[in-house]
Amino acid sequence: MTRVLVVEDDPQLVRALVINMRARRYGVDAAPDGATALRPAAAHRPDVVMLDLGLPDMDGVEVIRALRGWTRVPILVLSARQASDEKVAALDAGADDYITKPFSMDELPARLRAAVRRTEDTPLAPETTLVVTDGFTIDLLASKAVRDGHDVRLTPTEWHLLEILVTDPGRLVTQKRLLQEVWGVSRNNRTNCLWVCMAQLRRKLETDPAHPRCLITEPGMGYRFER
Ligand code: CA
Repeated sequence: MTRVLVVEDDPQLVRALVINMRARRYGVDAAPDGATALRPAAAHRPDVVMLDLGLPDMDGVEVIRALRGWTRVPILVLSARQASDEKVAALDAGADDYITKPFSMDELPARLRAAVRRTEDTPLAPETTLVVTDGFTIDLLASKAVRDGHDVRLTPTEWHLLEILVTDPGRLVTQKRLLQEVWGVSRNNRTNCLWVCMAQLRRKLETDPAHPRCLITEPGMGYRFER
């Protein structure tokens, strides 16, 4: 049984979540604030944490940092906040994904399964060198990309960006992290470089660059590689 820890201070939402999750055979614990959440998280070792960012005692981002001090448990952020920089802060602190409130209870199990699956098969095992998609293949060891039987020429910058995304499949990687790792800058003044580089990668690798299937944009947040 997959155990879910719900950290949320809205009692109505907690009740709805608990009923829904239990009906779908999840084991559920609930905590109304950050301090209460961190104790059962340590004691019961949940398989996934669903976390509200606006908690009465501390910011959800602090809860994420505290959890990430000792666990890689998938963290799904529940956020009513529209501001993407707050979601980005949550992702940069180590959250795996987010759901914007209000959300449908039908959407939830799929997102939970995806979050759990991602930590089961990510990051790629060190011996993994081949990443295969429907449209192209990446050989990480040989630093080679192949599409339709032909080598694709990538610049070092394109390669670096691609490598970060494909080695963490399914994970939303924030714009900030990509700028830092590829361009060595923390400010968003190189955002244009990132857009251009991503567009080039899509043009070189995607079958239909206007409707990418593997190099996905999360608007205002970052990018995600889907196999
Ligand atoms: Ca709240």
